Parts: sequence; C-alpha cells; structure tokens
Amino acid sequence: MSLSNLTKLEEKAIKLLLKHHTKGLLQSELWNKLGVSSREGSRIAIKLEKRGIIKRERVYANERWTRKLVPLIKQFDIKPLLGAPCPTCPYNDNCGYQKTYNPMVCPLIERWITSAGENGAADTNAILLQNE
Ligand code: SF4
Repeated sequence: MSLSNLTKLEEKAIKLLLKHHTKGLLQSELWNKLGVSSREGSRIAIKLEKRGIIKRERVYANERWTRKLVPLIKQFDIKPLLGAPCPTCPYNDNCGYQKTYNPMVCPLIERWITSAGENGAADTNAILLQNE
C-alpha cells in the first residue's frame, strides 16, 4: 500500500473516509462531500482500492445496489509515543537489529513504559502494541 502520489482530492477522500472508519460511506455520500461527479468519484475510489487504502463493498441502499467505501487504514495516534526516549537517545545510531543496542532489552524503554503506566500519561497497552 502506498500513500504517495495522491492528488489533493484523493487525500481529502481518505480524510473523509477515516472519519467513518468502522461503517464506511456510501460512494454517493462521498461524491457529495467532495463535490465531484460520480465518474470522477468512481475513478478516485477505484484508484484507492487498487492501492489497498479502501475496499469497495457492494451494498443495497436507498432502493438500489451501490458501493460502500470502507477504509482499510487507520489514523495513527501519536499520543502514546510522546516522551519516548529514542528520538533524543545518544545511542540511536547504534540501536536496532544486529547493532550494539537492542530495543527489546533497553532499560530506557522499560523505564519510559513503566512511568507512562504509573503516571497515566499514556496508554501503556498502546505503547506495548506499537513496540511489538
Ligand atoms: S531503544 Fe533504547 S538504546 Fe535504542 S534508541 Fe531507544 S532509548 Fe536508545
């Protein structure tokens, strides 16, 4: 999946669809919100589907068969990552797979996760998931 080389209209379509992440939007609703013709809207939807950004589901709505557009991507919440030690870590260049330092056993990461959980400053489960 690639989010590069998207037009402004395609980016706007993605933003609108992300607001309806769980249920999706009927394609005609998206065309109306974008202010485009059904032809132009269909072209956008097909392109986004080919890129794996959305799926187009065939549904019966408003007394006819149409397509519902459902995003396959989610908005990334950076809040759990605020305060992470890695961006300012002096060992950053030597940390990672087959390098001197290993994030899996890093005491700075462990301390950050522990303090975030104790302070309620971040969702510890989210941090743990994003570190997996
Ligand atoms: S995992 Fe630890 S050692 Fe590696 S960059 Fe992050 S804080 Fe530094």
